Amino acid sequence: MTTEEGKLIMSGLEIQAVRKDIKNIHVGVYPPNGSIRIAVPLGTTDEKIKLVIISKYNWIRKQRQKFLNQKRETSREYVTGESHYFMGQRYILNVITGPYRGSIEITGKKHMAMYVSPDAGIQGRRKVMEGFYRAGLTEELNKDMVKWEERLGVYASEIRIRKMKTKWGSTNKKDKRIWISLELAKKSCNCIEYVVVHELAHLIERNHNNKFRSIMDTAMPNWKLLRDELNDLIY
Ligand SMILES: [Zn+2]
Repeated sequence: MTTEEGKLIMSGLEIQAVRKDIKNIHVGVYPPNGSIRIAVPLGTTDEKIKLVIISKYNWIRKQRQKFLNQKRETSREYVTGESHYFMGQRYILNVITGPYRGSIEITGKKHMAMYVSPDAGIQGRRKVMEGFYRAGLTEELNKDMVKWEERLGVYASEIRIRKMKTKWGSTNKKDKRIWISLELAKKSCNCIEYVVVHELAHLIERNHNNKFRSIMDTAMPNWKLLRDELNDLIY
């Protein structure tokens, strides 16, 4: 079998392209780093490969996000010196053990302190971090909801936070319930606000169609920039 391999770089993503004696195009995203591989029939041009990648871009992005989240979560040890993100800022963790129930305090521009009991393992420390994320995110979401429900003239029955791997939020238009990913606590306030507006817009329009985009354009003209910032994979 004739095989020809090459590398393509598109919007910062490195794509391994393989031309071989096949009939159909296959695109794959592989763990642990979310590497991208595309297999195409012999003679397929780079242009054609680029078009396929563009048409699959959202799917690729989601797959990569999933792998990177998994990798990140399993590699976290919650020890002193490790970096953690909160509201778009990177902090160096300082773990202080003692007779504590578990809490986190931002102790400066670049540092966060975690107070935990000496026998809290990785799981216990992760729980403390998640509690901190949840509290911070709840506060931010509440502020944004008050502002944007009124501006958009729609009201959610409830907004809840949960662990979601591949989405930042989801909305059930019928029961007006909004779910937000706990991961969002790592992102900037502007990104959090964008997700709130996006999900509230789904109370007006379920699909990502022209009507939806025009609601977003009117409410938040820079939403595309925020969406890209949100999906930036650097961290
Ligand atoms: Zn949506």
